[in-house]
Order: sequence, then C-alpha cells, then structure tokens
Amino acid sequence: MIELVDIEKRFGDNVVLKDVTLRMREGSVTALVGPSGGGKSTLLRCINLLEIPTAGTVRIGEDSLRFHPGQKVGWASIQKLRRQTGMVFQNFQLFPHRTAIENVMEGLVTVLRWPAGKARERAQALLDKVGLAEKADAWPATLSGGQQQRVAIARALAPSPRVLLCDEPTSALDPELSEEVVDVLGQLAKEGTTMVMATHDLRLASRVAHEVVFLEAGKVVEKGEPAKIFGSPERERTKRFIATLT
Ligand code: ATP
Ligand code: MG
Repeated sequence: MIELVDIEKRFGDNVVLKDVTLRMREGSVTALVGPSGGGKSTLLRCINLLEIPTAGTVRIGEDSLRFHPGQKVGWASIQKLRRQTGMVFQNFQLFPHRTAIENVMEGLVTVLRWPAGKARERAQALLDKVGLAEKADAWPATLSGGQQQRVAIARALAPSPRVLLCDEPTSALDPELSEEVVDVLGQLAKEGTTMVMATHDLRLASRVAHEVVFLEAGKVVEKGEPAKIFGSPERERTKRFIATLT
C-alpha cells in the first residue's frame, strides 16, 4: 500500500500541493491527470522524495515518513523510502555513453553492489520483458524514442521497486511509438506492478489505470475509475478538462 496523507508542498509562498490524501493498493495503477501546473510532477516527486513535502505523510509498504514544516528528515530514511521507488521520465534520460543493457545494470551494480554477472542476467531478463532482447548492446542514440523509453522502464524496474513512478512516459513520442510503451506498461499492470503515472495521454490512462485522479491547482478535484472520470465525471471542471484530452 502506498499512502499519501495531507501532503502539502510549498515553494516559498506558492502552495503547489494542498492536503493531498491518496491511498493506492499494491498492484494498482493510478493516473494523475489535470491541467499543466496542477502539481502532477510535484506529487510524483513527493512520493520518491526528490521533493520533500512541506507537511504530510508518505508511506510505501512498511516504510513511512512524516514531514513537518521547518523540520529536517534524516538523509538515511529518505534514501530508504526512495529505494522503494523507480522513476521513468518524459525524456527517458538514459546514460548516453552506456549501452541499453549497461543502462539497466547501472543501479544494480553501483547502488546495490550486485556482481556484474548477476546484474547482467537480470538486466537481460528485463530487456526481454520490454521486448528489447535484441537491443542489449545498442547505444541509446541508435534506438527509437519508444525503444529508449522501454529501456528506461527496464532500468527503473531493475532494483524491484515497490512502485514505478512515470512522469508523462509517452508525451515525447509520436502515436505509433507511444503505443509500444502503452503496451509494455499495460503488460506490467497485468502482472501486478504498482504504478503511479502523470499523463495527458487518454489512451494510456484509460487502458492501463485502475484509478484516475484529477488534480488542479494542487488539489484533488475528483477521482474514480477511468470509465467514470473519462465517461461521466461529476464535476463540471473535470468535464471541461477531459474534453481537451486526445
Ligand atoms: P505539467 O502538466 O505541465 O507537467 P504538472 O501538473 O506536472 O504540470 P508541476 O510541474 O508539478 O505541474 O508544477 C506545479 C507547480 O509547482 C507549478 O506552478 C510550478 O511552477 C511549481 N513548481 C514546480 N517545481 C518547482 C520548483 N522547483 N520551484 C518552484 N516552483 C516549482
Ligand atoms: Mg508535469
């Protein structure tokens, strides 16, 4: 279970997240949708603590941290919680001077101190899973955007995080390439991977998510099953926003 309780994030006087409370069960996929600047990326970054919430509680499995304004939380406990997460970014962010398989192995070898052979074996299995068995030795620059994003997904999954966080995983891709990434994320969802993703991609959210959360101005406006949020949202604001998605 992932639990966010009363999360608040401020940048100076700017309150970017306000009293966000969400519970996500193990094996579920949550899509964060909403207008630009609504706080989707910031919320993802508060889950992996790339941003430290000003207030509130973040719980991932048995690990939980409570934040209070002006109070520092120890680096070790932040690291411990962060290691329960894997992150996929809009622009892939692969290491350009490492091959596909080396990208996937990197965290296992440098952070978790796995022996190279074991790391390579796991990385190869993950590349197989994302349909890139043949591309293990390719350089990122020689891969299509969809292939690069699939390497990034394999890399994020390598240390077996409890939750995979994806920030606009398809938005840098044209429709055909985004389809292959949606397929991979859909397959992971079927296998019970817990995921939280920020997306403007209606197809991704409706095909992969179990729950859609509509965030605006740092607040949860409405949440529910994709069919409900996309098909018959209750709030007028949600309705207007959904109409703009493609
Ligand atoms: P988009 O759909 O465009 O990706 P978003 O919903 O992901 O938008 P965020 O990137 O979370 O929105 O931004 C929410 C608000 O937080 C914005 O007003 C943004 O300017 C502000 N913000 C985000 N990061 C910082 C930062 N490091 N310092 C100051 N303000 C920030
Ligand atoms: Mg964003």
